[in-house]
Amino acid sequence: MESTNAFTNALAQLTKAAAVIKLEPAMYQRLALPQRFLAVAIPVTMDDGSVRVFHGFRSQYNNARGPFKGGIRFHPAVSEDEVKALSLWMTMKCAVVGLPLGGGKGGIIVNPKELSTGELERLSRGYIRALYRYLGPDQDVPAPDVYTTPQIMAWILDEYEHLVGHHAPGLITGKPLAIGGSAGRGTATAQGGFFVLDEAMKKMGKKVAGTTVAVQGFGNAGSNMVDLLAAHGYKVVAISDSRGGVYHEAGIDSKQLQELKNNGMSLESYCSGKAGACRAITNQELLELPVDVLVPAALENQITAENAPRIKASLVLELANGPTTPEADEILFTNGTKVVPDILANAGGVTVSYFEQVQNAANYYWPEAEVMSKLKAIMVESCSAVWKVQEEHNITLRTAAHVVALRRVTEAMAVRGI
Ligand code: NAD
Repeated sequence: MESTNAFTNALAQLTKAAAVIKLEPAMYQRLALPQRFLAVAIPVTMDDGSVRVFHGFRSQYNNARGPFKGGIRFHPAVSEDEVKALSLWMTMKCAVVGLPLGGGKGGIIVNPKELSTGELERLSRGYIRALYRYLGPDQDVPAPDVYTTPQIMAWILDEYEHLVGHHAPGLITGKPLAIGGSAGRGTATAQGGFFVLDEAMKKMGKKVAGTTVAVQGFGNAGSNMVDLLAAHGYKVVAISDSRGGVYHEAGIDSKQLQELKNNGMSLESYCSGKAGACRAITNQELLELPVDVLVPAALENQITAENAPRIKASLVLELANGPTTPEADEILFTNGTKVVPDILANAGGVTVSYFEQVQNAANYYWPEAEVMSKLKAIMVESCSAVWKVQEEHNITLRTAAHVVALRRVTEAMAVRGI
């Protein structure tokens, strides 16, 4: 049966790339486990005076190339294996775009939508109190991920600075600008993905005009991507969030959709009074629409062996981490669908996080245009390097990206003697 265990799937991806480069077994064994995995219990006093204990994790996967780096996820489906998988992908992601960073990831099993602002703040502060000895600008640097925000980064940084007794803005990235965030970090994941999409479209000889797109997920990654696509002439015909989605043949007005969402309305309410085909769709329907480009920007295991044969898009850009299972990957490859893998497509976020760390270390801040031009250069060059390896070996873009990354990570491990 097909695995939906993210860590099993991440290891399967690693194994494929290891075979291409004939990786030494000892290196593989070292890379098949996190260097350190931390599990903590976080007691939080709730607004009604009761105490709830939350489970939190931090996976420090590999630091051969630099400090561990990776976001913190707040979601009810967080598990040890999911955090491990995300930290392995972070290791590969930082390497594929050439950052001097390792890979890590954190998470708390929680539905943040059920918590008040005060409870969320106490949970965030509790997380760093439990883990602060293992984190730091030169050790392990967290960032936002699903359902974590710049405000949550600010609480975590503030608590950390109280604990260590000095300013340390490089402890965490994705912070608000007021306390050392980087210009452009908020839109960086989508912007990086957009630069890669642009490059992929050119390499595939495709024209932007008339290109239709479906985007799954309408959070940081998805909604900023929708804005960029619309601004550059793509036609976004379908968007979804956790409650379902909407399809509009004429193209969706993302600002209007955002307003509905901000007012607590479901996305499907968008269709009222719209001319042309407009209807509510499920997340599953969105994936199978007859569009040119599909952008998964929500969670793992969305494209599986079950629905992969029905995917019609010729290009899949993975802004989400792990949205495609290894079995689905094979099916899409056989069908000629190009899948630009997560570790390349969504690496813009960590790239600008790295810029944020550099600016924090120098205590000198760059204008947004400088951030974006540096980001573009890295994303375009990384995309070309991956594309070349894919053509040389006739492998998927995912395996090619892992090959590029694995060569870099194992070179650092080898010279260190591990
Ligand atoms: P977010 O919390 O801002 O948004 C998540 C979105 O996914 C929301 O719109 C939510 O409604 C939707 N969603 C949740 N469950 C869903 C479901 N079952 N079906 C469809 N939609 C669902 O999170 P984000 O930061 O945009 O992260 C989205 C993905 O992008 C994740 O896989 C994350 O790891 C990845 N990513 C994010 C960043 C970043 O910088 N934020 C960087 C790299 C990768």
